[in-house]
Amino acid sequence: MMALSEMFSQLCTKAVVLLALLLIQLMLLTKKLRSDTRPITTTQYLKLIERKNPTTCFTKRLRQEDAECRVCLSEFQEGEKVRNLKCKHTFHRDCLDKWLQQYWATCPLCRNQILPDDIVAKYREPQNQGGYIFSFWDLAE
Ligand SMILES: [Zn+2]
Ligand SMILES: [Zn+2]
Repeated sequence: MMALSEMFSQLCTKAVVLLALLLIQLMLLTKKLRSDTRPITTTQYLKLIERKNPTTCFTKRLRQEDAECRVCLSEFQEGEKVRNLKCKHTFHRDCLDKWLQQYWATCPLCRNQILPDDIVAKYREPQNQGGYIFSFWDLAE
């Protein structure tokens, strides 16, 4: 009987230790998730742009100050997909998205910030690394 109860208490201690270890691991995991430093993919990046500046259809009725897209320098046509920025500048959705992917997330005309710096930095990160690898291989060849 004695041996059995001793074994039982040992088992209990083991279980407690195991549980504690599990808890610590869980805590570390949630901490990792919270300090999320994963880079932003192009899809997520474009989604964030969309959330901040929803796509609208250009209509001559809602005539804006400038009737042409300053990225491709062509006039807006009725029903074209455009984005109206907070700075009141309007661009084709495709033109602006291309611009935002190639340059910093600012208005092409007045440099007004469209997305916060940390989001842009997270988006740029993997591309910079990729660029480094490519240049490394270019050197090797
Ligand atoms: Zn355009
Ligand atoms: Zn602007």
